[in-house]
Amino acid sequence: MKRRSIIAANWKMNGNLSLITEMIIGLNEVQLAENVDVVVCPSFPYLATFSHLAQTENLQQSIHLGSQNVSEQKSGAYTGEISTDMLKECAVQYVIVGHSERRSIYKETSSLVAQKVTQVLDAGLTPILCVGESESERENEQTNAVLSAQLQPVIDSIGIEKFKDVVIAYEPVWAIGTGKTASPEMAQETHRFIREFLALNSSDIAAKVSLLYGGSVNAANCETLFAQPDIDGGLIGGASLKVDEFKIICSTTKG
Ligand code: PEP
Repeated sequence: MKRRSIIAANWKMNGNLSLITEMIIGLNEVQLAENVDVVVCPSFPYLATFSHLAQTENLQQSIHLGSQNVSEQKSGAYTGEISTDMLKECAVQYVIVGHSERRSIYKETSSLVAQKVTQVLDAGLTPILCVGESESERENEQTNAVLSAQLQPVIDSIGIEKFKDVVIAYEPVWAIGTGKTASPEMAQETHRFIREFLALNSSDIAAKVSLLYGGSVNAANCETLFAQPDIDGGLIGGASLKVDEFKIICSTTKG
């Protein structure tokens, strides 16, 4: 079965209204391969504007809107939080969950991440579940143990079958925003490990899950990274804020 390729833009706490407009107009010019989906994840205040402009500009169907986070709660007295229902009203389809910045700065645990994945799936949205090791964990050969410990609570919480609706982004923490990209071989080896880990529960599901690589992906390195057999696209931070570079990444992706 051919997996879909996904290019997701994580704008983090960057961008503004004019970038939203420029990106929508720019992405509408990109010739995307048939099997490729693009997801743009701006900050919460821009989601409704993005979906409104996407409609008025008649944005191509394979470009979707994503959010960078969500509450694990359905609704209620959680000041400052955003629910899946609110995201759906803004036409959001994908939600980044467990980004390393959420895990390290905001102390999100793997069990909280698992609750968020559950909430996102229950709402009929697609989680982009981020996992990845720190530099010292890689140096100490703990990468596979760290990834297993991040994935297992989600498997325990939702069950392996539901992973058919989950996208996983492998993002080595040492490669995020640093300009240090994992080599294509290293990234492939870790992606293969993730797929094999899922296959311990179901080889059928493991073969279907789209696995994205994230960590200093740019227009110059994306082609070799995405050509690896277990890499099905990327989660792009810095380079997704530059419309022309992001367009190249999207159009280079073969699907
Ligand atoms: C990210 O924030 O998910 C990311 C991969 O950032 P960058 O591409 O800037 O390394």
